[in-house]
Amino acid sequence: MLAFSLAEARDALRTRKISAVELTDAYLRAIEALNPQLNAYVLPTPDLARAQARAADAALARNEAGPLTGIPLAIKDLFCTKGVRTTAASRILEPFVPPYESTVTANLLRDGAVFLGKANMDEFAMGSSNMTSAFGPVTNPWTRRGDNRPLVPGGSSGGSAASVAARMALGATATDTGGSIRQPASFCGLVGIKPTYGRCSRWGVVAFASSLDQAGPLARTVRDAAILLGSMAGYDPKDATSADVPVPDFAAACARGVKGLRIGIPREYFSDGMPEEISAIWRQGQQWLREAGATVVDVSLPHTKYALATYYIVAPAEASSNLARYDGVRFGLRRDGADLTELYENTRAEGFGDEVKRRVLIGTYVLSAGYYDAYYLKAQKVRALILSDFTSVFREVDALLTPTAPSAAFGQGEKMDDPVTMYLNDVFTVPANMSGIPGLSVPAGLDAQGLPLGLQVLGKPFDEETVFAVAGAIEQAAGFSAVPTIRADA
Ligand code: GLN
Repeated sequence: MLAFSLAEARDALRTRKISAVELTDAYLRAIEALNPQLNAYVLPTPDLARAQARAADAALARNEAGPLTGIPLAIKDLFCTKGVRTTAASRILEPFVPPYESTVTANLLRDGAVFLGKANMDEFAMGSSNMTSAFGPVTNPWTRRGDNRPLVPGGSSGGSAASVAARMALGATATDTGGSIRQPASFCGLVGIKPTYGRCSRWGVVAFASSLDQAGPLARTVRDAAILLGSMAGYDPKDATSADVPVPDFAAACARGVKGLRIGIPREYFSDGMPEEISAIWRQGQQWLREAGATVVDVSLPHTKYALATYYIVAPAEASSNLARYDGVRFGLRRDGADLTELYENTRAEGFGDEVKRRVLIGTYVLSAGYYDAYYLKAQKVRALILSDFTSVFREVDALLTPTAPSAAFGQGEKMDDPVTMYLNDVFTVPANMSGIPGLSVPAGLDAQGLPLGLQVLGKPFDEETVFAVAGAIEQAAGFSAVPTIRADA
């Protein structure tokens, strides 16, 4: 049962080959068996899941099934869930139980989904390895051939990715501010899409950097990701940046093919230090698309080289402002002091981890009176140039193909000495956040050590359909069927 894709499970539920309770129980057993080892969930919610599964079976019996009725999902602990503790993997929110449901998770519940629990992540979604979680690291279910040292699942949506890869969830919600859906997808052999900014409501999603944050799904196939995004997306009057545009049938787009499409290869993404395995898989992807009938052309995005530096000004600036609300007064952790200032200091010193403190310091610095023009304002100008690069290449091509990440999954504890080494993980993913365009990672193959490598497809704003079509073609050509070492159906 755990081997079903989401689309297959949905068919099996509708034809009554399996019941929603059976499917949910199988996943709950998987969580019980593997979570102590992988730490993918910070809070499994078995009672809630069983109640939702029973309701799903009742809906199925009445022939009133929605698009996700009975489908068990993991929910990144950045999404507020009514009556269920939501922490953003931070100690500062540890006692917080939201009295409301985020719009994205409410949309999933409307469509019949079952929630298995809250997934681990980097604290406040800041990180690329899941090492910054207050609940400890997540272990990637994949290991190098002949080497069982634990690897990171990527971040910040590491728990979401590990749970889907290890068959502890059929799909998961995730968020992506600079790559946090796509990089874990690449590290765990999954499909993950960050849709266009505004496609999914941010209401009820704990804010990191509001002009960059977008929700999206992690899944085992392109079609599964398309089905999930179809439920998550949609206009929401409660989020002023939510786009009032129709949600197309993403799943139908997956099998469209790429005949006649023009695919751009941005030459600036080819960095000198790029490992041969990454450039080889990238060339392979171009070849697959040519064979499937696309025209592959060389394009230039000249401001790409500034994207990472600009991101690490804009994202911390917005984070420092968003995180000012954790003051110990209104909600979450409170550590009293002699006066109000001491209360703030004690609460924030104890509640925030090192990476979050680093971001607050950088953000406050670049926004401070003497440095605002030199850093923040300059970064905003460069951001406009990054967007205009994309706008001009999308006059010539329908989509772009790049690697998702500069490496495969690395070991737990690696890249921890110097924060900049960790930030370099995001070099290929941040441009999509800076410009708001959709980006998807699809598994393309394995490296020499048997670890998955993903390719990234970037598309025009609100043209996720073409992104899914290109990813579908790559998925078909790649025939990626490798499975992780640690998984519930092993
Ligand atoms: N790794 C990036 C960061 O730490 C991106 C995180 C994200 O997308 N949430 O900022």
